[in-house]
Amino acid sequence: MTKLKIIILSLFTFAAVGVVLFVAISKKPPQYYIRRDVAFGTNVQIAYATKKGNAKTVVDAMFDELKKLDDIFNAYRPTSELYKLNHSNGEWVKVSPRLLNVLKYSMKFAQLTDGDFDPTLGKVVVLWGFNTDDPNKWRLPSPQEISNALEHSGYKNVEIKDDEVRLLNDVWIDLGAIAKGYAVDVLLKMAKLNDPNSTGYVDIGGDIGIIGPKYGNQPWKIGVRDPRGNMNDSIAYVYLYKGTIATSGDYERFIIRNGKRYYHIFNPKTGYSPDNFEAITTISSSGIFSDAFGTAAMVGGLSKTEKWANELGAAYLIVNEKGKIIKNDLWKDYEEP
Ligand code: AMP
Ligand code: MG
Repeated sequence: MTKLKIIILSLFTFAAVGVVLFVAISKKPPQYYIRRDVAFGTNVQIAYATKKGNAKTVVDAMFDELKKLDDIFNAYRPTSELYKLNHSNGEWVKVSPRLLNVLKYSMKFAQLTDGDFDPTLGKVVVLWGFNTDDPNKWRLPSPQEISNALEHSGYKNVEIKDDEVRLLNDVWIDLGAIAKGYAVDVLLKMAKLNDPNSTGYVDIGGDIGIIGPKYGNQPWKIGVRDPRGNMNDSIAYVYLYKGTIATSGDYERFIIRNGKRYYHIFNPKTGYSPDNFEAITTISSSGIFSDAFGTAAMVGGLSKTEKWANELGAAYLIVNEKGKIIKNDLWKDYEEP
């Protein structure tokens, strides 16, 4: 073999090996950096893979952001922005863009659901003790206490003008029905801003958002918890490539008195928890919407939930008060991988 031939042959061999190697590298699934921690008053898990920069750095920044969001939206921590608004004695208060955003969204949702969703139930929540994690503080108030608390609630007592907010009638805002979903949206945006092709998910206490499909092309399999089972018992599974999913249920914070279950979601018209569903899980493209929708649905019941879902485009799976599963057609799109 001449010298020339040897060089060409070895170049060719090298090129062929290179192609194989390239294929092997690009097929290799990305490594997920996973961090589990308590944040935003709940268990948070983030899985992230990116080819841009360091996944851990991005995930750590997401946890830092959660802390900032908690410092805004935690209604019962004296240092938070929302706490200060709740204790502003009916004065106009200039609020941060993020609080303004979520307040406006809540007001829109309250109008849309004719007040079944109501962001001003702070005094009712505190009366029942469901603002704390401590089950010893959860209690059944007297009817008189409940009607007193209801007098200081009602979304029509919130006034918004430009970036200022005024609370009338001593209402307290509680954004517990919506803040986790909003945080999901914020974190998804951060992940995508770092790298539009990054993948993974964020799970903020069961409010989940998909950053991108598993390994770039596979759906994430997500279990729907059995409301009368243990933490890890699932009654259904869905497969998500994108979007968000959130659950509201009567099993998170509850007491049973005289055989009746009372839990942390309230019918704003009565001050008691509704008896419509044990749980509802919602899938949509927006975290804040999925979160708000489920809470409103728990109050509204089946016929309103069907109507709202048709109008607004939500996929849902309900476990009704008898434990029966009811799901809409949109939901069925997610049942197969
Ligand atoms: P979620 O688990 O998303 O359904 O939110 C429940 C939380 O929302 C409760 O712990 C309360 O802080 C708040 N909340 C309770 N009832 C309502 C309601 N009817 N509308 C809006 N927020 C509510
Ligand atoms: Mg909610």
